Amino acid sequence: MRRPFIAGNWKMNLDRASIGAFCAALRDNPAPSGVRVGVFPPSVYLAEVVAALAATDVVVGAQTCHSERSGAFTGEIAASMVKDVGASHVILGHSERRHVFGESDGDVRLRMTAALAAGLDVILCVGETIAQREAGATAQVVLGQLDAGLAGLEPATVTDRVTVAYEPVWAIGTGHTATPDQAQDVHAQIRARVAHGYGSDVADKLIIQYGGSVKPANVSELMACPDVDGALVGGASLDPNSFDALLRFES
Ligand code: PEP
Repeated sequence: MRRPFIAGNWKMNLDRASIGAFCAALRDNPAPSGVRVGVFPPSVYLAEVVAALAATDVVVGAQTCHSERSGAFTGEIAASMVKDVGASHVILGHSERRHVFGESDGDVRLRMTAALAAGLDVILCVGETIAQREAGATAQVVLGQLDAGLAGLEPATVTDRVTVAYEPVWAIGTGHTATPDQAQDVHAQIRARVAHGYGSDVADKLIIQYGGSVKPANVSELMACPDVDGALVGGASLDPNSFDALLRFES
């Protein structure tokens, strides 16, 4: 039985006051006990969010981290710093990191190594562009990113410390959600690939989130797909009421 995991990626949004109010709302209205909740604030607010949610089960993480432990990398944060302020997770390979900031599969893999070594659990994002989908390359792209991200990891690490988020680039922030059939199709391929590489025990336990214009109106139909185990949410995670509604999807 996989526990649903719904996470909000706040990207470069909100401010100190609104984040404080958001954390208070999360404290006051805990999610149903069967649902795991995560928030990924801008890194300058990480320590505050960790403190504000310390008495809850809400997972707090960073939106990325660098592969190096320290040094002359202006603007970057090390995995050990994320861990040092008490966060437990990091998102890696988000499409904005890949497409806006030019991170390659190799970069993502190095960051995975650094994050896991620092004791952080990882949400590994994979997803195709619309051009790749229309060219029939969805599986090749998504499974290639998956293989690169997981390369060399021990099965127990994949089981216990990695969540995969399938996020079709054409659905992120566009309002164009993948249909449940489209999401299920790719999620099933991801699980089959992990079963092939790591065995069915690992694949059966792997949490695979869907991301791309998830909102209260469509979360239940997506979560009803057998291989959709959660959601990584951008826009609809910015408002406490909307986020709360996502956590109460119909199962
Ligand atoms: C995301 O950026 O991870 C995301 C899924 O964004 P949105 O929900 O806004 O499409």
